[in-house]
Amino acid sequence: MVTNVRIDIAEIELSELERALEELGRPRFHARQIFQWVHRRGVTGFDAMSDLGRDLRGQLEREFCVTTPEIVRTERSTDGTTKFLLRLADGKHIESVYIPDTFSNTFCVSTQVGCAMRCGFCLTGKMGIDRNLSAGEIVAQVRVLARELGILEARFNIVLMGMGEPLHNYDATMKALRILGDEHGMAISPRRVTLSTVGVLPALEKLATEPFMPNLAISLHSTTEDQRDMLVPINRKYGLKELLDACRKFPVKRRERITFEYVLLDDVNDTPDDARRLVRLLSGIRAKVNLLPLNEAAGIPYERPSDDRVNRFAQILAERGVTVSVRKSRGRDIRAACGQLITETSRTTAPGQQLAMLMGQSTVDSR
Ligand code: SAH
Repeated sequence: MVTNVRIDIAEIELSELERALEELGRPRFHARQIFQWVHRRGVTGFDAMSDLGRDLRGQLEREFCVTTPEIVRTERSTDGTTKFLLRLADGKHIESVYIPDTFSNTFCVSTQVGCAMRCGFCLTGKMGIDRNLSAGEIVAQVRVLARELGILEARFNIVLMGMGEPLHNYDATMKALRILGDEHGMAISPRRVTLSTVGVLPALEKLATEPFMPNLAISLHSTTEDQRDMLVPINRKYGLKELLDACRKFPVKRRERITFEYVLLDDVNDTPDDARRLVRLLSGIRAKVNLLPLNEAAGIPYERPSDDRVNRFAQILAERGVTVSVRKSRGRDIRAACGQLITETSRTTAPGQQLAMLMGQSTVDSR
């Protein structure tokens, strides 16, 4: 028996779609039309593609599909942050968050089901890694949410700060960014995308050579090798010093900077000495610092510092000329805060997943 494996349009770049159509004896310009329907208008069925002939639509139906995750649950916070639980084609679950704000609206997107990095303060890390997301599954989070929210045509930002470590799923993440950036699709410029990473060095070095280069955020979280070994275990493989050397060499665009994320854990890494060491470590790097007071959770053996401690830490950086902001947790009432995304794929009901995100930052800037 010959089984017909359909090509998944959700997973391919425009150039691949053009080739696939040519192989079917169809003119390549149809690829742009189809790509626009899928990525600009959020259409997932060929019937709706009204500017294509009936015959072509029939053929597309037979040869192609557009795999699209299903929204299982939506929760809206009083601050407007909306958390989506999505079910993937194989039944696994991920979460994505929409964070509206006065000046910019942001999608926080996952790159893996779970995460292998096991950072000591992050709930997602406790899940371990289940699997990588495909490029199509990464893109689909934006496509599906933007359609649901009716903002496919709007401008928005994307942060790769949901579940997973994007540089541990490099190829799919990069392909997703190319699809999201295509001018015939959502046309999201790399300037509006931020990739957050613990610093998987070989992948970071590769990223430095990419034509589609997003803004970079580094999850630093500590100023000494020993402590970072403990908080961010990948440091044992790719240490702080090497990571900062790679950041020094990273081609930062004009007028832009690398963001260093620093989770503040009460009485662990939030002392004035830590702040002063951080300033020294970042010298010579075009850097800004984003402080993340810990989002506490059961099973996480650290506490969130008081506002006074957070402010003192920020002040030390600011006084020494480092641009610093404090990330406000958004969507706390729906448990949507950084590093707290956790899903239990064995259950179909919405699990005890707690997302959490960010943004809406208050900035202390000495300049
Ligand atoms: N894997 C990527 C994206 C993770 S989420 C990375 O590590 O960069 C984005 C940020 O949230 C990271 O800096 C992560 O360390 C931080 N984070 C994780 N758990 C947190 C928590 N409980 N409270 C505050 N921030 C947390």
